[in-house]
Amino acid sequence: MTHLLEVNNLQVNFKTYGGEVKAVRDVSFHLDKGEILAIVGESGSGKSVTVQTLMGLIPTPPGKIKNGEILFEGQDLLKLSKKAMRQVKGSKMSMVFQDPMTSLNPTMKVGKQIEESILTHQNVSKSEAKEKAIEMIRLVGINNPQERHGQYPHEFSGGMRQRIMTAIALACRPDILIADEPTTALDVTIQAQVLDLMKDLKDDLDTSILLITHDLGVVAETAERVAVMYGGVIVETGTVEEIFENPRHPYTWGLLESIPDVTGDEKKRLLPIEGSPPDLFSPPKGCPFAPRCKFAMEICAEEMPPPFEAGDGHEAKCWLNDPRAPQVEDLIAAGREPS
Ligand code: SF4
Repeated sequence: MTHLLEVNNLQVNFKTYGGEVKAVRDVSFHLDKGEILAIVGESGSGKSVTVQTLMGLIPTPPGKIKNGEILFEGQDLLKLSKKAMRQVKGSKMSMVFQDPMTSLNPTMKVGKQIEESILTHQNVSKSEAKEKAIEMIRLVGINNPQERHGQYPHEFSGGMRQRIMTAIALACRPDILIADEPTTALDVTIQAQVLDLMKDLKDDLDTSILLITHDLGVVAETAERVAVMYGGVIVETGTVEEIFENPRHPYTWGLLESIPDVTGDEKKRLLPIEGSPPDLFSPPKGCPFAPRCKFAMEICAEEMPPPFEAGDGHEAKCWLNDPRAPQVEDLIAAGREPS
């Protein structure tokens, strides 16, 4: 099956005074039409660098794409000229950033900012662009779109500004919307509204969404599939059901334990994962999670685990999934506690 987007063996480094940071290491994943894939991981896991590379936003230097391909509708985006890539950005793929206040131009009416995006990518007149902009404001669930079109960003709340950012990103009906921590700066109620909006827009416009987040709660609410990133590597991937009900990687177990519990149940308090992420100047040659993993075996520090199949479309890069590995229950019985 051909995927709408297919990333194969992507490797991205950054040159710094201290050496070369291996930010993204052999990352592969795909996105199909009309689906929501969440890439989840803590900060520094490589998730944002991965999507910035898709959008051609990595400054080179200091960034360097060492290897890989990004196939969009079968065409490798890494081989496109800057001009051709500009065409793809906005009209085929667009991005909603984390902080709507700094991403919007405070001196420009929001309607004009949406129109600018439409005029850059579509061959339409100014009056048609205005009509489309008003339609987009309505589509993202803002009342009085005619009136709101003529207002400035400071006249909108945080959640409304995030909706305007989404309207700008969707104004050209892209095939793929990339949302990088789109709800981090919002309070919980507004966060739920923005996530609902994204799901509705996906259904209405058949847009595929690549959602970048550190929050598994957001993943459960929104996504259909998940890729868990750690130390620049995708360590586990699968459907949301598989990842939540049958996780097969100790880092994913740790992430699931770290979801804050609001029920007040003492036993389910927030449990941080002990230890620090790997040093990406010289990442471990074996499993990146080995220094923090309670189940680490000799082979873990020596060899990067291959992707072990753990179900339909479910893969985990963890040696515990090797048929020769000891059973987790036996390791726990021998005194190893899960994260
Ligand atoms: Fe832990 Fe080894 Fe699995 Fe890595 S491969 S997560 S160190 S058990």
